[in-house]
Amino acid sequence: MKIQKDSVVTITYRLSEADGSLLESSDDAMPMAYLHGHRNILAGLEAALEGLAIGDEKSVTLPPEQAYGLVHADAEQKVPVKHLVGKYKRLLPGMLVKVNTEKGTRDARVVKAGKFMVTIDTNHPFAGKTLVFDVVVRDVRDATTEEISHGHAHGLGGHSH
Ligand code: ZN
Repeated sequence: MKIQKDSVVTITYRLSEADGSLLESSDDAMPMAYLHGHRNILAGLEAALEGLAIGDEKSVTLPPEQAYGLVHADAEQKVPVKHLVGKYKRLLPGMLVKVNTEKGTRDARVVKAGKFMVTIDTNHPFAGKTLVFDVVVRDVRDATTEEISHGHAHGLGGHSH
């Protein structure tokens, strides 16, 4: 069975930067399952996996424009601490937080924290990076109608409700 729209695909992967340094890798004991053709994963990665079958391996390189975008210089901003989602005992530089904005909740990294104001950077941690995904296809099956209506995979490595 080949990967096509509405396949549930289980993969393991290593994600590295173009220079080879490892950013993250999936746990072999807990592979990731996604619903193909529903933008569950980066569009460039999804397109590269189309047509592969169980056991296939593929290395996919995505420039920042096709991954998490370029680094925006204006992504640093000072916001009131009370705009952060959740309560923090102490805010430290480098901490990942969620912040309420006019466009909804966004991930951000703390640059500098004061008592009432915090400077955050809303660039994605992988912004500006060329990403190399080394993917192994572990399983391919047809999605259930429930999975298609939810827009994601269920079961091992997918969503559990
Ligand atoms: Zn669901």
